[in-house]
Amino acid sequence: MTEHYDVLVVGAGPAGLAAAQAAAGHGARVGLLDAQPRQGGQVWRHDALHGAPAAAHRAMTRLAAQPSVSWLAQHQVIGADPHSLLVETPRSAVELSFGSLVVATGARELLLPFPGWTLPGVTGAGGLQALAKQAWPVQGKRVLVAGSGPLLLAAAATLHRHGAQVLGIHEQASATAMCTFAWQLWRWPSRMLQALQLRATLRGIPYHFGSFVSRAHGDGGLSAVDIRTPRGSFRIECDLLAVGHGLVPNVELPGMLGCTLDRHGAHAATRVDDLLRTSVTNVYAAGESCGIGGLAAARIEGLIAGHMAAGADTAAVALLGQRRRARRFADVLARHFSLDPQLHALADAGTIVCRCEDVTLGALEHFVDSRAARLATRCGMGACQGRICGSALAELGRFPRGDGRPPIFPARLATLATSAIPAFLSHDSGDHHA
Ligand SMILES: Cc1cc2nc3c(=O)[nH]c(=O)nc-3n(C[C@H](O)[C@H](O)[C@H](O)COP(=O)(O)OP(=O)(O)OC[C@H]3O[C@@H](n4cnc5c(N)ncnc54)[C@H](O)[C@@H]3O)c2cc1C
Repeated sequence: MTEHYDVLVVGAGPAGLAAAQAAAGHGARVGLLDAQPRQGGQVWRHDALHGAPAAAHRAMTRLAAQPSVSWLAQHQVIGADPHSLLVETPRSAVELSFGSLVVATGARELLLPFPGWTLPGVTGAGGLQALAKQAWPVQGKRVLVAGSGPLLLAAAATLHRHGAQVLGIHEQASATAMCTFAWQLWRWPSRMLQALQLRATLRGIPYHFGSFVSRAHGDGGLSAVDIRTPRGSFRIECDLLAVGHGLVPNVELPGMLGCTLDRHGAHAATRVDDLLRTSVTNVYAAGESCGIGGLAAARIEGLIAGHMAAGADTAAVALLGQRRRARRFADVLARHFSLDPQLHALADAGTIVCRCEDVTLGALEHFVDSRAARLATRCGMGACQGRICGSALAELGRFPRGDGRPPIFPARLATLATSAIPAFLSHDSGDHHA
C-alpha cells in the first residue's frame, strides 16, 4: 500500500526538522523520515551521556507538538521516482508518495587514504564523535584529532567531554589561512561565539596548523602516528586517531530523482535556485546536500524549502537575506580550509583505498574509469557502496565519482522482490553497485 503526504522530507537533521516545521505551519500533511532511530542528523546526534543541545531539543519539541507531522524513524530511502520513494524499514518495505519532496540528506566525511589508515583505532573525526555520543568507551584513551575543518574542534570537544585524553588537534590548513579566517569571524557573531566556546572547552589542548598525519603504525591496532609539519616530522604514540578531511554532500537521492548536480571541485552538490527549487518540479533541497554550509545555513534553508514545498512562496522569499548571509560564511570556510596537495600524495601503491573490498591504490593503476576498475577489482562494491573510496578517488583526481543507481543503500532481497521494484530500478545511469 502507498502512503501519501503533501510534503515528504528526507533527513531529520537541522535542515529537515526546519523544513517539516515550516511546511506543517501552513497546514500541510508532512512525513519526516530518517534512516536513524532518532531525529537530529549529524550535528544534533543524540548524546547518551549529555542529551541533545538546547536548540535541538527546542526544534524537536516544537515539531512533536505539530499533529500534522508524522515522524518516520528508521526509514531509509533506497529508491525513488519523481512522485514516490521506496523506503526500507527494519521490518518491511513501503512506498511513500508525495505532492512535494524536500531532500535534506546532509553530508558525509571525506577520508583520504594514507599508509595505515585502515588499522583498528583509526576512524573518521565525526565517526569517533558519533561513537562517543553513542556511549562507545573513549574514557582515558589517548586520542589524536587530525585532518581539516571546524568539525575537528567539535569532535575534539565531544571526545574531551567523554573523558578522552585529547593529545592535540592537527589542522592541515596553514597558520596564515587560519589567522585570516579568524579575523573575518566578527562578521558572523554566532559563529565567533561558537568557536570561542569550543576553544574554551579545549583549553590546554594544542591546536597545530599546517600539520597532518602522514602514516599510522601498529601491529593489529593503532599504536602511533607520524605527523608532518612545516618544521619537520615526528612520531606520537596514541590509542585512537580521529581523522577527517572535510565533508562531501550526499547527492545519491537527488541524483536518482534526476536533479541536476553541480561540480564543486572533485565533488557534487544538488543544484538549487535561491528558493531551493531543484531542476525537478516539486523537489526541493536544503542543507549540506546542496553544498557544505554548516548548521546555520542548514536551518535557514530548511525553513525556505519547507515554506516552498507547502506553496508559501512569500514566507520563503522573506528569508532570502538570511540564507545569503549564511552561505557567504560557507564560501569563506571552503576558501580557508582547502586541502594541501601533499595530502593527495600520501597513499602509496600498497595502501588500501577501498576498505570494504581490500583494493589497493596499486591495483587501480591501469584503469581510467571507475566502472572498469569496479568490474575488475570490486572497488566500490562493498557495504558502503563507494561512498568512502569513490569520494577519496575523486579527490585524488583518479576517477570522478559515478552517479550511482538504486538501491542507493544495501537492501534486503525481500525489499527488492516487492512489486514496486521494477519502476524504482529502471534508473539508467550506467553506474552499477551490487
Ligand atoms: C559525521 C559528521 C559529524 C558532524 N558533527 C558536527 C558537529 O559536531 N558540529 C557541527 O557544527 N557540525 C557538524 N557536522 C556538520 C553537519 O553536517 C552540519 O552542520 C549539519 O548537521 C547539517 O545539517 P543537515 O540537516 O543538512 O544534514 P544532517 O545533519 O547530516 O542530516 C541528514 C540526515 O539525512 C539522513 N539521510 C541521508 N540519506 C538518507 C536516506 N537515503 N534515507 C533516509 N535518511 C537519510 C541522515 O541519516 C541524517 O540524519 C558534522 C558532519 C558530519 C558528516
